[in-house]
Amino acid sequence: MSKKLYLETVGCQMNVLDSEMVVASLRKHGYSLTQDPQQADALLFNTCSVRERAEEKTYSSLGKLKRLKQQHPEKVIGVMGCMAQKDQKLIFERAPYVDLIVGPGQLQQIPELIENVISGNGRQVAVSLGRRDGSVENIKRSHETFDPLRDSEMRPTPFQAYLRIQIGCDKFCTYCIVPMTRGPEQGRPPEQIVAEARILADQGCKEITLLGQTVNSYRFVAEGKTTRLADLLEQLQQVDGVERIKFVTNYPKDMTRELLEAVRDLSKVSPYLHVPLQSGSDRILERMKRGYTVGDYRDMMGRIREIVPNAAISSDFIVGFCGETDEDFQRTVELTKECRFKNSFIFKYSERPGTRGAEMYADDVPLDVKQDRNNELLAVQSAISEEENLQFLGQRVQVLIEGPSKLTLRKGQQDEPLQQLTGRTHCDRIVVFDGNVRQIGQTLPVAIYDATAHTLFGAVVTEEVGPTVYSLQLK
Ligand code: SF4
Repeated sequence: MSKKLYLETVGCQMNVLDSEMVVASLRKHGYSLTQDPQQADALLFNTCSVRERAEEKTYSSLGKLKRLKQQHPEKVIGVMGCMAQKDQKLIFERAPYVDLIVGPGQLQQIPELIENVISGNGRQVAVSLGRRDGSVENIKRSHETFDPLRDSEMRPTPFQAYLRIQIGCDKFCTYCIVPMTRGPEQGRPPEQIVAEARILADQGCKEITLLGQTVNSYRFVAEGKTTRLADLLEQLQQVDGVERIKFVTNYPKDMTRELLEAVRDLSKVSPYLHVPLQSGSDRILERMKRGYTVGDYRDMMGRIREIVPNAAISSDFIVGFCGETDEDFQRTVELTKECRFKNSFIFKYSERPGTRGAEMYADDVPLDVKQDRNNELLAVQSAISEEENLQFLGQRVQVLIEGPSKLTLRKGQQDEPLQQLTGRTHCDRIVVFDGNVRQIGQTLPVAIYDATAHTLFGAVVTEEVGPTVYSLQLK
């Protein structure tokens, strides 16, 4: 009889991809997914440590399992991902009924570790070496990801998939825990990436999003040859069946002319660039140890506008970082207005134990000030997003149709053939329109007649298909 797996995922796209791979690997060991914790033989939590709230969410989910584990001690409960790597055995203190702690570099061991628990070998812990716990080579090896086992059921849609090209990060921004939890930056071999893209295309995947913490810093050196992201994009352009290629998240200083020319010249590469700015104040950027100045970011924007003028650019911001004054924040507001991002993800600074920021600076901006700054920047960004979206009125855009819009699903109309569908343009704008469920997965032209800050509204353009006239030439 098949065993049941319950899996909860929080955090970034890397975690979504890790979860897909863990599910694929456990399926090979006879597991199938369940949405019901009560039915599960194994319960796994893929965790995030980037913000305190994400960690508390996991502890709250674990708390709800305490009674279940008392009643069914045979169920295996595991914590995997960044929080497992960061907190390690501390998790046993807060949730003593957890059986398994697995860092992001050891996910391939999960089936075996679960078996060890079932066989009565007690709690299992598998984590990578810390950044100061050995030679660089040994640390790198301890963070390796596992083979590209893929599971289309776990994807956002069957025709969109993430593809990891890089793991880890060496930038050490002072607020960020990722270099500690995901280890040193390592590019995957290009042949492996292209082979995985082919597998995805064979499975019907049309859009691939390449993932890396600083994806545009990607490089792989073998036999004296260096492959960079621009070269990799050129190779992926050749994969039949793939229609769109995106890549996130970018590091401003590595947005080179060569890469931007590849974005311009390769038809499958989306003119969409997510490049976090984080702050518009040089003083704060230096405290964050971001490695660039406002001037550098402006230069990068200039390069993008010159080489890929139609690119949609989005950003991330942290407001209320240690020591951020009103003046620093106003610089962020001004630069946001100048850059006119398509959209921005805005976060209130959350101190993370284990980061340099937590050691060096006091988290001294009060929560209500952080909240006010968050609201102000959000309002500025929303106004810009709406103005930018309004430029699409009357235009025809190509939309990869992802599925029913959430609005429709809430109304419980998912079985009706004609309903509101949603998809994205090549430049990553969300489009909502009336369509037929049969159109899901297709790329169709949509004429835009309305827009808000977050959404374009349109109608599918049906080309006139008239009768073709043949003249019969009688001899
Ligand atoms: S570049 Fe900075 S923010 Fe991004 S993952 Fe690396 S350390 Fe974290």
